[in-house]
Amino acid sequence: MGIALELKAVSRRYGATVALNGVDLDVEQGQAVAVLGPNGAGKTTMLSIALGLLSPDEGTARVFGRLPAEALKRGEVGALLQDAGLLDDVRVAELVAAVAGMYPRPMPVERVMQAAGVQDLAGRRVGRLSGGQQQRVRFALALAGDPALLVLDEPTVGLDVESRRALWQEVRARTAAGRTVVFATHYLTEADDYADRIVLLADGEIVADGPVDAIKSLVGGTEIRFRTDRTDVSRFERLPGVRQVRIEGRTVALRTGDSDATLRTLFATFDAFDDVRDVRTASTDLESAFVSLTGGQER
Ligand code: ADP
Repeated sequence: MGIALELKAVSRRYGATVALNGVDLDVEQGQAVAVLGPNGAGKTTMLSIALGLLSPDEGTARVFGRLPAEALKRGEVGALLQDAGLLDDVRVAELVAAVAGMYPRPMPVERVMQAAGVQDLAGRRVGRLSGGQQQRVRFALALAGDPALLVLDEPTVGLDVESRRALWQEVRARTAAGRTVVFATHYLTEADDYADRIVLLADGEIVADGPVDAIKSLVGGTEIRFRTDRTDVSRFERLPGVRQVRIEGRTVALRTGDSDATLRTLFATFDAFDDVRDVRTASTDLESAFVSLTGGQER
């Protein structure tokens, strides 16, 4: 399989704000990639660069080996962007047909309408639709050109359960057919359920990247907390299984992928750790682990 999207050392600033800082990313054809991260992490900036709507200040972006804007022009890319404006006075079916007509190899309009769940809205004026209905129309427009790469920024915001299900079903069908989908989401469960791979962004940098299971075990695992008088990080970070050490006053919190091994060594090496007391362990949920991996920022 070839590479659908390639970012090499991509950086982008807005004035003094560094939105992306040296991002490298290869997305293979047929993958569903979830881009996760707290607000302001750089997700929208990254997707906009992938779509050629923004240029990197440094580095390069390629879509199927071409400049993103060129790939977009050739109909190889479809996009659903947050708050993308829609023509208000047009009827849904007309809009979908008009957009499909701009592409060299569009999907049949009927098929698009069905995949996006907007058949029952066909005769409605776009401006009169609810937010969730307009979001479905945006998804229809993203699909219209039958793109080899689909880029979705928070695609399910405002969608009801049934529309979400339909959207993810379409995403699955596309990747099964060798097409590529890159999506940003705030919902960890969506990444968990529908992505082959998670790219975790924080402060404009990729802090984790891998198959969903690998990321889950990286962010999951167990937290061991205890009190000690000697709270220097270096004492603890070399314990077996330990992935992260946090110091909160006299409390040490270790995130570990193997709590048995960590605890065994902690207690076996008594000279070094004889001041350790009040030991507690708890398995971490994905949500809190996510916060910890992205530097403790709220999502
Ligand atoms: P995310 O999509 O992960 O929330 P963004 O890519 O939207 O992150 O933003 C990354 C950073 O760049 C944030 O600090 C944001 O405030 C800043 N930023 C984004 N767009 C602009 C803009 N048009 N002008 C100034 N700053 C911006």
